[in-house]
Amino acid sequence: MVNIKNLVMAGLAALLLQGSIFAAAALAAEITVKVAEGVYSFRPGDGYISMFVVTSGGVVAIEPVHTSHAKGLLKAIRSVTQQPVRYLLHTHNHWDHSGGGQVFRDAGAKILAHKEAYDWMKANPHRDMALPDEGWNGKRKDITLGGTTIEMHYIGMSHGLGMTVFRVAQQKVIYIADVVTPDRVAFAMVPDFNIKEWVRALSEIEKMDFNKAIFSHSGNKAPFGSKADVIKNREFIQDLQGAIAAEFKKGTNFLKIPQVVKLPKYKKWAMYQEWLPMNVWRVMLDMYMGPFPWRPALAFEK
Ligand SMILES: [Zn+2]
Repeated sequence: MVNIKNLVMAGLAALLLQGSIFAAAALAAEITVKVAEGVYSFRPGDGYISMFVVTSGGVVAIEPVHTSHAKGLLKAIRSVTQQPVRYLLHTHNHWDHSGGGQVFRDAGAKILAHKEAYDWMKANPHRDMALPDEGWNGKRKDITLGGTTIEMHYIGMSHGLGMTVFRVAQQKVIYIADVVTPDRVAFAMVPDFNIKEWVRALSEIEKMDFNKAIFSHSGNKAPFGSKADVIKNREFIQDLQGAIAAEFKKGTNFLKIPQVVKLPKYKKWAMYQEWLPMNVWRVMLDMYMGPFPWRPALAFEK
C-alpha cells in the first residue's frame, strides 16, 4: 500500500515538473477506468479501489472507504455522468472501508449495508462513518436501475460482518472486498478472517458467473482481474494450511513454524517477505484452536 502511494506521489511530482496537461489527463484516466459498459473502477492510489455503475436510471457507488476517497469517487462519477447517485453500497462493517458515507448522503444517495454489518456499525460508531439508511437482511438483494441489475450476495462468515459481493448481472462484473487480493499474500495478521469459512466463501464466489472482477485491494496495477485471482487466493490459503500441517506432522516446534514455512510459488506476490510469517501464525492458530471468529448460523442461513 505504501508502494502504491509512493508511486502516486512520484507520479504527481513528475507532473508538477513537466507541467503537462496531457500527463495529468493520463493519470486521471488511470484512476478511473471503464471496466465494462457502465461499470468503472476508481483507484486514487490510497490503497483502496472502489466501483461505480452508471445506468440511465442513476448511479450506484460501492465502497466509500473514507471521506477524501469518497469525495474523489463522487468527482470521478461526475466526470462521466450527471445522473443522480441513487445508492451507496457497503461491502462489510470495517471502519477502514465504511467511512465517507456522508459525502454520498449529501449527494442524495441512499446508503445500504447488510444487516449484520449495519448492527455492528450502529454499536461501533466512528466519526467518519455514517450509519446506513437500511440494513438489508437475507442472502441476496437486487437493485435494478435503468435496466441494469446489481445483485448483492451475502457470502456469510468469511471476513468481518455482513460481507457482500456485488455482481453487475448483464456485464458479468463483480466487486469483491478483502476476501480476494490479487498477487498479494493475506493481509498482515489476517484480521477478522475465519479461515475455514473464508475458503468456503471463495469456493462459492468461484461458482458465480462473471468475467471481470474489481477488488478493494490489489497487489498489481491492473484496474480489474478475473476468476483466476479468486482461485489463486483460495489455493494460497490451502497451500499455507498444507505447509503448516506438514510441519505439525514433522513435530516442528510450534514457535518455529512461522519462520520455517516458505511458499516459493508465491515469492513474487506483494508483501511475501513481510507478511508470510504473520499469515502462518494466524492460519496456524485457526488450525490449532479451531476456526474463529464464529457465530451460530443466522435464521436465513439455516
Ligand atoms: Zn475488512
